[in-house]
Amino acid sequence: MATAADKDHGTVQLLKGQKALVTGANSGIGPATAVALGRAGADVVVNYVVGADEAEKVVAQIKDFGVRAYAHEADVSDEDQVVAMVARMVEEFGTIDIMVANAGLQRDANVTEMTLAQWQKVIDVNLTGQFLCAREAAKEFIRRGVVEEVSRSAGKIVCMSSVHQIIPWSGHVNYASSKGGVGMMMQTLAQELAPHRIRVNAIAPGAIRTPINRDAWSTPEAEADLLRLIPYRRVGDPDDIANAVVAVASDLLDYVVGTTLYVDGGMTLFPGFATGG
Ligand code: NAD
Repeated sequence: MATAADKDHGTVQLLKGQKALVTGANSGIGPATAVALGRAGADVVVNYVVGADEAEKVVAQIKDFGVRAYAHEADVSDEDQVVAMVARMVEEFGTIDIMVANAGLQRDANVTEMTLAQWQKVIDVNLTGQFLCAREAAKEFIRRGVVEEVSRSAGKIVCMSSVHQIIPWSGHVNYASSKGGVGMMMQTLAQELAPHRIRVNAIAPGAIRTPINRDAWSTPEAEADLLRLIPYRRVGDPDDIANAVVAVASDLLDYVVGTTLYVDGGMTLFPGFATGG
């Protein structure tokens, strides 16, 4: 039972004693998530592929909560590097309880201009990268099983998807396909792993203010255009997503299995139909 002393910045330590890994944790949604997990009491591995300085800043912020953290460089689309990353975590922290497969990127082009390299890069990082991270985490979850004092489940995998899991997106066929794939991968893994008491779920952000979509919010005109797509009429912040990850990874949502939680200010509510149709 959490006590008042466990509270920090108003967040009850829902994840006390758990070990979490966040990929792509040195820019945008990743750092906010890694910090929120630390604030909730988890030890955290901060994965990055470039930008060690930013990763170390995130580590320092997490350590301020009195939990352990370190940065680990790895390309999530490289099998050997993902295997080594999780192996090191098991060695240093003893195990893993929460895998947040967050790393992702865009390589935008209209289909007639899109190179195979652009297609492949996005699939490799956004889909294959999540598969590799989920697979390595699942092996350790199954090996260890449930430890009741830590969590009711044997482990949690949180896939960072997107509203483009279900909203088609012209000029971004590689990205939308990768996220559609993440949705089905998540459900299939959830079905396969649930008997092991492993919970696999996805968070699908709408428009969140990060470097990946700077063009969509960095000028007042662009932001006004974007807000037309958001019934709640605000662009999301990385903390909106970080809080959702903490909730879905915690035992409060222990019966939530194979679900996509849309955190999008209503973007998936077909806003174009609000005044007609
Ligand atoms: P971001 O560009 O700020 O962060 C992406 C992170 O992934 C960076 O740290 C980057 O270095 C890392 N990364 C890229 N390739 C990698 C690789 N091969 N190995 C390891 N790390 C790698 O963007 P963000 O908005 O924070 O995106 C995070 C996730 O959220 C992505 O999966 C993205 O698709 C998803 N998402 C974002 C939004 C949004 O509006 N920002 C909306 C929907 C979904």
